[in-house]
Amino acid sequence: MELSYILNELGEDRDQYFNAVAPPIIQTSNFAFKTVADFRKALGNEFDADLYSRGNNPTLNILRKKLAALDGAEDALVFSSGIGAISVPILSLLKQGDHVISVENPYSWTIKLFNNFLPKFGITTTFIDGRDVANFEQAVQPNTRLIYLESPNTFSYDIQDLAAIAALAKPRGILTMIDNSYCTPLYQQPIKLGIDLVAQSATKYIGGHSDVVAGVVTGSREIITKIFHNEFMNIGPSLSPHAAWLLIRGLRTLPLRLQRSFESAKIVIEWLSKHTAVAEVLWPFADGFAQADLARQQMNGCGGLFSFILKDSSFDKIEKFCNSLQHILMAVSWGGHESLVIPSIAGVPAKDYDPANRRHQLIRMYVGLEEPEYLIRDLEKAINGL
Ligand SMILES: *Cc1c(COP(=O)(O)O)cnc(C)c1O
Repeated sequence: MELSYILNELGEDRDQYFNAVAPPIIQTSNFAFKTVADFRKALGNEFDADLYSRGNNPTLNILRKKLAALDGAEDALVFSSGIGAISVPILSLLKQGDHVISVENPYSWTIKLFNNFLPKFGITTTFIDGRDVANFEQAVQPNTRLIYLESPNTFSYDIQDLAAIAALAKPRGILTMIDNSYCTPLYQQPIKLGIDLVAQSATKYIGGHSDVVAGVVTGSREIITKIFHNEFMNIGPSLSPHAAWLLIRGLRTLPLRLQRSFESAKIVIEWLSKHTAVAEVLWPFADGFAQADLARQQMNGCGGLFSFILKDSSFDKIEKFCNSLQHILMAVSWGGHESLVIPSIAGVPAKDYDPANRRHQLIRMYVGLEEPEYLIRDLEKAINGL
């Protein structure tokens, strides 16, 4: 399916709603039936029927069709947050006593899911360095049910060889799932490489304007249906029709925004890399990035999120640099119109700061839609002020 068709037409039945170009926000909790027979049929298969908006809703269904097609997946489910799109499917895939192999240091709440939540059900997790495929093979136990990936990681940009990992998981009956928030389906298509489930925080690039929190998971119709009929309906992480409408709107400009973020990041990174006060820039498409070959092999492009380390990485200098920025905002999240920074030390008390720990030194930056020169001027003032 062509990208332009997916983003502009797929799922949209304009003659059902006055040929309006923008779809309606069907702001309703429930749907009425004319006959008991129709009602019974809908109750018998809520996955395919508009019955109650905790399950299906026509505005959400437009979004689901587009997101599934973008990933080359049979189906998609949307959630009220990205972490919902990770936690709920994982709760669905696993049962008591199962074992998970996860890449080390995935998204913070994903770590908490594995460390704090799943142990309640007797589910254990082994965290490994996912840059080496052999580490996955070594961690497999007889009860391993899931391999969890995040490629690239959104702080260290560590990458996993998706095709190789899918190939080792399949014959062992192990499911694979990836957090693909960094790339979006435009820059990485894990299902085509053999991964079973693809989750994304739609809060980031899909929404794209820092005004909606949402998530999506895509996969086979069999797995998605099972998640829907069980954990999805029971836990109730449904997205509001208005939020779904905002995501449909976000999708219209996703290719443009992603490309802008990618191109501007290149310019900002080139400037930072040459600056004498900067020790290192971490970005999958940077020259000299340790896994640059694998990145270029499995990714069609790169996001605008990267990290860098100042040569003088004292606690005070990192803090002063971030405090001095005038236009680049200090905040969590990314993928919106606005450029952001988050220093690792925002999560580290001064007494715990270890100047030799690279993770502590990182300053993560997201390049939004501003002119790159505008961002460079802001960075320059803050760096020169050190
Ligand atoms: C933001 C983020 C999430 C969580 O998404 P929410 O929409 O905030 O719940 C998960 N994974 C990654 C990589 C993220 O950046």
